[in-house]
Amino acid sequence: MDQIRIDDLRFFAHHGVFDFETEQGQNFVLSVVMETDTRRAGKTDALEDSTSYADAVEFLVSFLTEHTFKLLEAAAEQAAQALLLRYPLIRAVELELRKPEAPIKLDFESVGVRIRRGWHTAYIALGSNLGDKQSYIQSALDGMAENKLIRVKKTSTLITTAPYGGVEQDEFLNGVCQIETLYTPEELLDFLHLLEQAAHRERKVHWGPRTLDLDILLYDNIIMSTDRLTIPHIDIQHRDFVLAPMAEIAPYVEHPVLHKPMLQLWKELEGTWS
Ligand code: ATP
Ligand code: CA
Ligand code: CA
Repeated sequence: MDQIRIDDLRFFAHHGVFDFETEQGQNFVLSVVMETDTRRAGKTDALEDSTSYADAVEFLVSFLTEHTFKLLEAAAEQAAQALLLRYPLIRAVELELRKPEAPIKLDFESVGVRIRRGWHTAYIALGSNLGDKQSYIQSALDGMAENKLIRVKKTSTLITTAPYGGVEQDEFLNGVCQIETLYTPEELLDFLHLLEQAAHRERKVHWGPRTLDLDILLYDNIIMSTDRLTIPHIDIQHRDFVLAPMAEIAPYVEHPVLHKPMLQLWKELEGTWS
């Protein structure tokens, strides 16, 4: 990733916990590193392939002067998100916000926070085996597309598969999609649960019939396991209905634990890998 940097930009704003800070205001110092792919713009020299640095910085400073936050953490968080939503070519931003005149009775240069935020790539498994399956899956895709923190990048063909896990039930409709998101894995799971609830999903029998099932398959190259969330999804390599659509939209994406591309995992499962 290429970087565009701005160092130590001074501006006046009103963030702070104390009344006098929000009333009188004070100086702030902003440093920003934006990660973009500048190669295309470097080759074509075309404005539409680039992000205007001046615009982006002016946007940040306006955002930080027009809004007032108690905490630097909140100011930095909201400013980073606003920037990423406003400039689609910026993949990630590292933002440092400092207060050289913070009300602390000690000898110091400045206090501040530094955060890094950006778009993450995730793959979501889509499944339904109850009611109007196609429209439940479409409602999930629409719900993701309407959320500004998610961009749906690719969607696989939907396939019909026999039920899994030995419970008597109707056949499944399955697919996967690739998204980019500003959510953390936990936030993404919460949002997917909202979409499942909106489809009137009831959690009764494990692997039983459901209007909508949305699982996080991969999230960047993250490997994690908590009470609520295991990523990569624990069963990817055993499920034809996951690997077939993944082989379609992400054949060369590697499983971060097994270190094999999706296409290979699929062929191995089918017994056709040689
Ligand atoms: P399976 O995960 O084997 O496909 P399921 O999808 O039928 O089973 P659910 O009842 O939908 O299981 O989910 C049970 C719980 O699994 C969820 O509430 C969630 O906390 C947890 N979970 C763990 N890892 C993931 C993941 N990667 N994606 C979605 N849910 C997950
Ligand atoms: Ca599932
Ligand atoms: Ca699930």
